[in-house]
Amino acid sequence: MKIINFKDTLKEEASKIDISLNNNILEKLEKYKDILIEWNEKINLTAITDEYEIIMKHFIDSLELVKYIDSSKKVIDVGTGAGFPGIVIAIYFEGKLDITLLDALNKRINFLQEVINTLQLTNITLVHGRAEECAKMKEHREKYDLVVSRAVASLPVLLEYEIPYVKVGGSCLIMKGDKVDVEIEKAKKAFDVLNAKLVNRYDYSYFVDNEKYIRVILDIKKYKETNSKYPRNNGQIKKNPL
Ligand code: SAM
Repeated sequence: MKIINFKDTLKEEASKIDISLNNNILEKLEKYKDILIEWNEKINLTAITDEYEIIMKHFIDSLELVKYIDSSKKVIDVGTGAGFPGIVIAIYFEGKLDITLLDALNKRINFLQEVINTLQLTNITLVHGRAEECAKMKEHREKYDLVVSRAVASLPVLLEYEIPYVKVGGSCLIMKGDKVDVEIEKAKKAFDVLNAKLVNRYDYSYFVDNEKYIRVILDIKKYKETNSKYPRNNGQIKKNPL
């Protein structure tokens, strides 16, 4: 679908989900989109190239999450990829919230550094590394109020990656699709072993070309310290998920 004006369309779609975007935020999101499209021709950042689809599937989807974020918190986006939802959160809460973006792929970290430089974002720390390895490091372990992520791994694997980053009493907001109920069922042991609990879920949906996309944000609380043996190494996690 052809977009006549990116900012107008994004503003209008955001207002439909009760999110108001000022001009400064719209300008920065548009620049981010421009760099994304430019770099996507050289390195693989996203399979979505249509501007309206980018608005709905990347920007509006990420903005759904800001409704549930308390801006005073220390946040990490694990497996941020091209920066969804992390860059959108950073721009939306610029000046209020600090966010760390972590990814295992260095070329995506380089892209994110370019976005940070061009947009002069001062509230982002980039980390290049594997989630299960960085979670063992003193500077990351149980240091975050909130962990967010989208499209990184199945729920049991994701919980093992992410719960170790969360302070006791803190949360994870995990973005999932319509198969979430099966994943929740399969993650029972992981919740138990990692001292975490599903406390809420926020269901939403959007349409692109008359197709309905059903999405869910899982709100997970950590109520007790994580045993130091978690996360296990990548091989063990993959071979024998919790
Ligand atoms: N969150 C982004 C989004 O929704 O557009 C990216 C999703 S992409 C499908 C998954 C990303 O997670 C990739 O950039 C990949 O490098 C990263 N990833 C997967 N497993 C990881 C791990 N164990 N540690 C760090 N990053 C990981």
